[in-house]
Amino acid sequence: MEYLSTRGHDSGQHFCDILLEGLAPDGGLYLPRTYPRVDDATLTRWRGLSYAELAFEVLSLYIDDIPADDLRALCERTYTPAVFGNPRIVPLRRLLDRTSGAAASAPAVYIEALSNGPTLAFKDMAMQLLGNLFEYELGRRGETLNILGATSGDTGSAAEYAMRGKRGVAVFMTSPHGRMSPFQQAQMFSLMDANIHNIAIQGVFDDCQDIVKAVSADLDFKRRYRIGTVNSINWARLVAQVVYYFAGYFQATESNTQKVRFTVPSGNFGNVCAGHVARMMGLPIDMLVVATNENDVLDEFFRTGVYRVRGSADTHETSSPSMDISKASNFERFVFDLLGRDAAQTRHLFDDSLRTTGRFDLQAHPAFAGVAERFGFASGRSTHADRLETIRDADARYGEVIDTHTADGLKVAREHLSATVPMIVLETALPIKFAGTIIEALGRPPARPAGFEGIEDRPRRVQVLPADVQAVKSFIAAHCQPQP
Ligand SMILES: *Cc1c(COP(=O)(O)O)cnc(C)c1O
Repeated sequence: MEYLSTRGHDSGQHFCDILLEGLAPDGGLYLPRTYPRVDDATLTRWRGLSYAELAFEVLSLYIDDIPADDLRALCERTYTPAVFGNPRIVPLRRLLDRTSGAAASAPAVYIEALSNGPTLAFKDMAMQLLGNLFEYELGRRGETLNILGATSGDTGSAAEYAMRGKRGVAVFMTSPHGRMSPFQQAQMFSLMDANIHNIAIQGVFDDCQDIVKAVSADLDFKRRYRIGTVNSINWARLVAQVVYYFAGYFQATESNTQKVRFTVPSGNFGNVCAGHVARMMGLPIDMLVVATNENDVLDEFFRTGVYRVRGSADTHETSSPSMDISKASNFERFVFDLLGRDAAQTRHLFDDSLRTTGRFDLQAHPAFAGVAERFGFASGRSTHADRLETIRDADARYGEVIDTHTADGLKVAREHLSATVPMIVLETALPIKFAGTIIEALGRPPARPAGFEGIEDRPRRVQVLPADVQAVKSFIAAHCQPQP
């Protein structure tokens, strides 16, 4: 499989060429030249596979520059019950109303558990594979890499737990000092691995992001210290996420004639973009519902055709903080497909309109009519009050304590139920990560999974630095992985 950029660059790169890269050289995002189609016989064969085998089958369609035995071994090593806490890796559970006393009625609503990995958020699903892929590819090339990132919580910890102890890789993760949830801070800062470096910046998340951008823009520094990223536009992360759409579908259905709907709590459009890819491959998805919080850039687009990025002053700090985005960094991939893969138009929208006016409007564009009909998208938004209400209702009705992001999903999913098609809501984090809001909703703390007892009291390894590019550069220079 060869990859091209949403803005036209197409030099026949393969998977491992783009694995360690961020944006394409023209500023676009990488996509495969075509989406491989999965036929009925293949779907039937895949139904019986373990998650690791399924991952191998899906990834094989996109990766032709890793020998099959190596790729299979990477998948087996990544998706084990020991890491994900369950033999099914992403078990589905049906929400059953205990208050009605009636038999389970259609439509079935399921929660797909994507958050039983090491950091208790769905980002582990892709990041754990990425850690093994990076180690494999760097080893093959005889290179090292220093990953620099900014996090407000889930991405940073998922990256650190994926890269800890991996040969040839170090992680430098900046986060806003004192602003992550106590549980998230404890998760990251208690890591003692020599190749993991936590940098708490005296500032807000935007300061962290600005520092990462400034360091990456210094091409000399970037080359000398072999700086890389693991952000959500990485194609490998996206394709790893495609697998759990298949796994969820197989658990909710008995035959390939059945369809399902998915509702996806969304921020940077990475998770739901993987659902779009699965649908393009032929997975019978009837509808993909994009759920946002008060930061409703995406809901606005799917309702009106207007994509309007927000300034940092207009970005709300919410109780589902991993969805607090001002623009959706993966969205360009979907728009490229929506426009019939017209790279010139995509470039115009993202490089001209968006950069100069902060918005574009597809309302009158003939392609926009296809958003719902051809591509199956729908959307909705949720507020703090909705979140509290949904968490309370799920607890009372189903005996389920759900996290704040998943609550945004369930709230919006209920606005898009069909009488005949099951709905699968993706669980993107466990409630313990956002305990404050759970206590606000239920008056009691959420359950703490085994192995996480007392992590707030463990010793910590974190460097506090001022919001200063030079300070961060000096720290990296002093602690980076040596040249091989
Ligand atoms: C990252 C994240 C999201 C948003 O996912 P995107 O791929 O950015 O749309 C939602 N919920 C949780 C808990 C997350 O960590």
